[in-house]
Amino acid sequence: ACGNTLLRDPRHNKGLAFTEKERDAHYLTGLLPPVVLSQDHQEKRLMHILRQYTVPLHRYMAMMDLQERNEKLFYKLLMDYVEELLPVVYTPTVGEACQKYGSIFRRPQGLYISLKEKGKILEVLKNWPEKTIQVIVVTDGERILGLGDLGCQGMGIPVGKLSLYTALGGVRPSACLPITIDVGTNNKKLLDDEFYIGLRQNRATGQEYAELLEEFMSAAKQNYGEKVLIQFEDFANHNAFDLLAKYRTTHLVFNDDIQGTASVVLAGIVSALKIVGGTLADHTFLFLGAGEAGTGIAELIALEISKKTNTPVEQNRKKIWLVDSKGLIVSSRKESLQHFKAPWAHEHEPVSELLDAVKAIKPTVLIGTSGVGKTFTKEVVEAMSSINEKPVILSLSNPTSQSECTAEEAYTWSEGRAIFASGSPFDPVEYNGQTFVPGQANNAYIFPGFGLGLIMSGTIRVHDDLLLAASEALAAQAMEENYAKGLIYPPFTNIRKISAHIAANVAAKAYELGLASRLPRPKDLVAFAESCMYTPVYRNYR
Ligand code: NAP
Ligand code: MN
Repeated sequence: ACGNTLLRDPRHNKGLAFTEKERDAHYLTGLLPPVVLSQDHQEKRLMHILRQYTVPLHRYMAMMDLQERNEKLFYKLLMDYVEELLPVVYTPTVGEACQKYGSIFRRPQGLYISLKEKGKILEVLKNWPEKTIQVIVVTDGERILGLGDLGCQGMGIPVGKLSLYTALGGVRPSACLPITIDVGTNNKKLLDDEFYIGLRQNRATGQEYAELLEEFMSAAKQNYGEKVLIQFEDFANHNAFDLLAKYRTTHLVFNDDIQGTASVVLAGIVSALKIVGGTLADHTFLFLGAGEAGTGIAELIALEISKKTNTPVEQNRKKIWLVDSKGLIVSSRKESLQHFKAPWAHEHEPVSELLDAVKAIKPTVLIGTSGVGKTFTKEVVEAMSSINEKPVILSLSNPTSQSECTAEEAYTWSEGRAIFASGSPFDPVEYNGQTFVPGQANNAYIFPGFGLGLIMSGTIRVHDDLLLAASEALAAQAMEENYAKGLIYPPFTNIRKISAHIAANVAAKAYELGLASRLPRPKDLVAFAESCMYTPVYRNYR
């Protein structure tokens, strides 16, 4: 035995927390300085170190180093300081990390599958050290947050998402597999960057793309079984909708940008209505951005209204309007619309500007899913505030630089009347002597618990009703005492409990629909979810 092997293995390393007995028994004596620290003390020490870095990207790199060095400590930190560290390992900092991945890259994380591996993807999967995988998060890097095509450097996203699967949803780290499929990039800057880590070619499309994806999907199922959850993340919309439609009947797949976002935003709106009044069916919705997030949310709202009022979905779509880069989506544009926009092409004269669309449609809820920052201008927020006593304004685009408006802008321009939430976090805002706390409308509330619910019940397919179940569970966790501050989401500090409730509600629905294969059904699903969750406590080595 060699102590060094233990120190170099992030899954088993405890660093200074190895006791004297352990150091004796495992040939560690001398390889560590004399002091023995508890995990709590180590945690305190690391937070002290992290807080000394003032550049967010340095904190990100320090966290990635910790994950590579001492996995349990990494997860303990992420869980105990979730509100402080989420912006480091996730949006907004992960966006900057992806942009600079080529130059900050040290030890590889995740699995890379490129066009070069065509015909041998199964072999590549077998190179991954873990054999039992429950969740794969996969991207092709074409639409990373609102930052566009980052090619192979999109790897930061599946890595970050899966660390949240563990920290927020309690899925074992060894059962999580981040994958980036590299089919090239159309990002000229990256192609010219001497430190770019991906294939130096333009994106493969059409049949070549479809074949690689098909090979990947069947290899994943063959290698990990029917119940492996495959989460599509940050694909461009010209592939995302088709991939979801194609694989949702044969695989356990979930598109976080379309479905996870829809579920989290519906929950936020349901809470907001407790402040604003009325039911979903009473409201009028306007979106800036008619892509994955926009149309996904719109569809789930229409579906929820249908369930609640026993009315056809088509009818409920009529009070939901979307604006894309060419203006309001209206019926006269129908010929040239992408298929996912067609259901939203209502009768109306053409309107090219958002401000004019707000004035014409008079929405009660305005949702930004455009990926373009600063698009909710002062005039737009003021128009929303003149139409509504309490306008609901959600700026969902990530990272912070792409947010449609800031929290401060929303509260100031609405004179403190907006109910605001955003995709990336904003600090509380003081306005007119009152403190407003913006919620974070981010799918991080949903996917960890949603995935846990699928895994623990052995669910084999994702059904839209499961998204509604997740949304309902999240909305039920929002706390009335926070409504006065304008906060429509529960704090992330309670996320493990929230995830357990989401998992339980999703599993309950899956059992009801006959989609769950783990039998018999556990009686108390919340307790069962909690019992399934990974916790980062050190083991004792004798
Ligand atoms: P997407 O599928 O590419 O859709 C973007 C949409 O915005 C398209 O309809 C596009 O119009 C429209 N658009 C672009 N520029 C515009 C402009 N200047 N004015 C009006 N519309 C414009 O992207 P997505 O997947 O929906 O993601 C969009 C954003 O949402 C990203 O920033 C992403 O980070 C964020 N997001 C947030 C969450 C969350 O949890 N908060 C989850 C998912 C996504 P065309 O169709 O005409 O090109
Ligand atoms: Mn995403």
